[in-house]
Amino acid sequence: MKPRTNVDLRTLNTFGVAVLAAQLVDLEFEAQLPDIRQWLAGRTAFILGGGSNLLLTRDLTEPVIRVCLRGRSYQIDSSIDAVRLVVGAGESWHELVTWSLEMGFQGLENLALIPGTVGAAPIQNIGAYGAELADVFESVRVFDLAHGTWLTLGPQDCQFSYRDSIFKQTRAAHWLICSVTLRLRYRAHGNDGLKLDYGDLRSQVQSIRDMKGLGLSTEGIRPKEVAEAVIAIRTSRLPDPARLGNAGSFFANPIISREEALALQARFPGLPAYPVASSGPSGQLGPTMKLPAAWLIERAGWKGVRRGDAGVHADHALVLVNHGSASGQQIRRLAEEIQRDIHKLFGLALAIEPRVV
Ligand SMILES: Cc1cc2nc3c(=O)[nH]c(=O)nc-3n(C[C@H](O)[C@H](O)[C@H](O)COP(=O)(O)OP(=O)(O)OC[C@H]3O[C@@H](n4cnc5c(N)ncnc54)[C@H](O)[C@@H]3O)c2cc1C
Repeated sequence: MKPRTNVDLRTLNTFGVAVLAAQLVDLEFEAQLPDIRQWLAGRTAFILGGGSNLLLTRDLTEPVIRVCLRGRSYQIDSSIDAVRLVVGAGESWHELVTWSLEMGFQGLENLALIPGTVGAAPIQNIGAYGAELADVFESVRVFDLAHGTWLTLGPQDCQFSYRDSIFKQTRAAHWLICSVTLRLRYRAHGNDGLKLDYGDLRSQVQSIRDMKGLGLSTEGIRPKEVAEAVIAIRTSRLPDPARLGNAGSFFANPIISREEALALQARFPGLPAYPVASSGPSGQLGPTMKLPAAWLIERAGWKGVRRGDAGVHADHALVLVNHGSASGQQIRRLAEEIQRDIHKLFGLALAIEPRVV
């Protein structure tokens, strides 16, 4: 195990912010963990995946562990039409989605094209297009760097909710996720279990089918076609971090009571509000409503605004971007300005989605 020193993190975070890591080690095999603990000597490590949910505002003086654990295996239980996947934390999430669809498995189609690693997916219970990790999650294997012990956590232990989990709490500061176990459908059965009712997903599936000469019917859709539609929508709307630095949605959608939502809608006609479903396979609707942060930010006039090289994307108000050489601090200051404004205008607290360091 050889830590590298003064590592430039510009290409290791999707904002493309230029900061240094004083010491960084690539974790490629679990067998390295005892040596890594010795190297840490009680210090708290910074755990880095694909860097797609981070805003780095300073050089990292703490030791950095970059998770590169690879490997995936699967076990089919055809009697209950299920397949269990065990995936190394350093695998690419999108490559996993693509592979699972090629294998004919169903369950990850709505989560296509989310950047980052498999090991980071439970941290904020990644979600998109009406699906989230919790829907397919079985367990996670964690190494506690402070105590040198292994833990296996199930869905209840992980306390998943909208963009949140136990892994964001301070008690998890020393937990390194080494592998994730997911449970998918082994074979698709018609449209059973497909989630097509989010935004314009259904019409996108229809237009792709129509272009292929399959007509406008949404009968017998394959999970792969849903992923194709998700990818088409995402690429048309979200900036590619390889061209324009960003971390996807920068603010989480505020969740408030139904009464508060109705009161705001009376003041701001046209404000959309959606009932919130609980996390996990049951997905029952609860008493709270989710407001689209993008609508609030656009309404407050922030779309396309720039402060030097830090800016709000011109087409997508929820995405903060680095137009070139913005520092993490400049992006954070812009975010704080937006938060203050939204609070003044709507009385709402906008929470930042990526981890700000
Ligand atoms: C263009 C774009 C679109 C996006 N779209 C979505 C979306 O639709 N839905 C969504 O939910 N997110 C989205 N994101 C955010 C991001 O892709 C996800 O949060 C992703 O899971 C982050 O993975 P990562 O490996 O890059 O994590 P990193 O950014 O490296 O780390 C994120 C956090 O997880 C911790 N962490 C990482 N790996 C481990 C591990 N193995 N063990 C313990 N802790 C770990 C880090 O310490 C950090 O706190 C988007 C980002 C971009 C750039």
